[in-house]
Amino acid sequence: MQPLSTPSPAVARREHMHRAEPEASWKARAVADFGQHGDEDLAVSLLGAVRALTGQQVSPEHMWVSSARRAAAVSVDNIRFRWEQSQLVVLRPCVHCGLGQLASLALHSRADLGYALSAWQPRHPGCEQEDPTDW
Ligand SMILES: [Zn+2]
Repeated sequence: MQPLSTPSPAVARREHMHRAEPEASWKARAVADFGQHGDEDLAVSLLGAVRALTGQQVSPEHMWVSSARRAAAVSVDNIRFRWEQSQLVVLRPCVHCGLGQLASLALHSRADLGYALSAWQPRHPGCEQEDPTDW
């Protein structure tokens, strides 16, 4: 732990001479906060959002967390949920080719989840145009 206050006269003088240091310190504090809480926050956000919509208590060890992408994902009854950019989405494969992991719109309610699991037809942009029944 670093002392956050009571800088010595020597430290104050150094900060005055190097004007870049205050900026560097806010960056360092943000990076330190991310290092301490980043993954944990992602995990808590994902599990909380999934539980709110499904009522399912998901075990953290079944979860995937990416610090680099600021994202977390988990499967519940073979449905893949992802938390990214502070939003919960469902990932489903393309209905045309059966490949990929396409993200639904953000899920804010159980009705949103119901739409994503039923009426929503995820397709790659290219797959959509090849389907003759769309004409
Ligand atoms: Zn496709």
